[in-house]
Amino acid sequence: MILDGKLAAKQILNKVKESINKSLQENPSINKPSIAILLVGNNKASETYVMAKIKTCQQNNIIAEVFRYQDTITTSELQQEIKKFNKSKFDGFIVQLPLPDHINKDIIINEISAYKDIDGFHPINFGKMALGIKSMRPATAYGIVKLIEYYQIETIGKNITIIGKSNIVGKPTAIMLSNDFNIGKATVTTCDINTPKDNLKKHCINADIIIVAVGKPNLLTADMINDNCIIIDVGINKLESGKIVGDCDFDSISKKAKMITPVPGGVGPMTICGLILNTYEAWKIKNFIE
Ligand code: NAD
Repeated sequence: MILDGKLAAKQILNKVKESINKSLQENPSINKPSIAILLVGNNKASETYVMAKIKTCQQNNIIAEVFRYQDTITTSELQQEIKKFNKSKFDGFIVQLPLPDHINKDIIINEISAYKDIDGFHPINFGKMALGIKSMRPATAYGIVKLIEYYQIETIGKNITIIGKSNIVGKPTAIMLSNDFNIGKATVTTCDINTPKDNLKKHCINADIIIVAVGKPNLLTADMINDNCIIIDVGINKLESGKIVGDCDFDSISKKAKMITPVPGGVGPMTICGLILNTYEAWKIKNFIE
């Protein structure tokens, strides 16, 4: 079975749109939700992601504007820009990653006001997420949890193996799924580049759910999974042919696994869904909406 992220995101966001419209009708003095996207340089993949985010915002009654910067901008110049956005009319904003190598990503993320941090990367929001306090959450991890919830996939007491430990995907996903909530309460194992290959295989064969977020095509192969396993493939890799693939050998794994996300059309739309759920949260906080 295919886990259709496009469909799940659309249905989740339809409800968000309805709630936004209802709140706007009830409170005519409130402005529509609005976000800014700060884009540094000319990374083609980033351009594509930003356009997809703008389109989804527009479909959901959210104003989205892009602000472009030369890739020669320095960390301190970008920090100054962020200070302006922290005080701006926008309910939330993101700095599209990756940033050019000379920019200190951590300084930039820390400069964003936690109230406007709709990517959910700020240490305050990350901490709240870890403690289970309502907040903006890392958007991809949030999207993955929402996908699991949408398809009513049981997590309580299940073995979940997460491959990849980045701060933006693997780590927050592991925290959210091991937390003591309905979508969570799982036994989570996290693997990374330091995990010996035979151990990685053991952890995968033993898993009810595998989430792979590495950025290497064919990292996960059919011999590494059991035939009851659910696979969530976060990876985005562009092959020489131009084809976009995930981290799984999709052709063979999709014949064996119980459920699998496609790439594209799986986690990608759910990440934008997570971003919009965070935007909705930021907008509600700003306007004191329950
Ligand atoms: P990252 O480079 O920050 O982290 C990669 C992780 O994979 C690290 O923990 C590393 O140790 C681990 N790793 C590398 N090689 C490994 C191996 N051979 N075996 C086991 N672990 C290994 O990457 P990231 O930012 O987390 O992104 C991961 C992938 O997810 C990329 O392809 C990225 O494009 C994609 N991504 C997709 C979305 C989406 O919306 N679909 C969002 C974010 C990232």
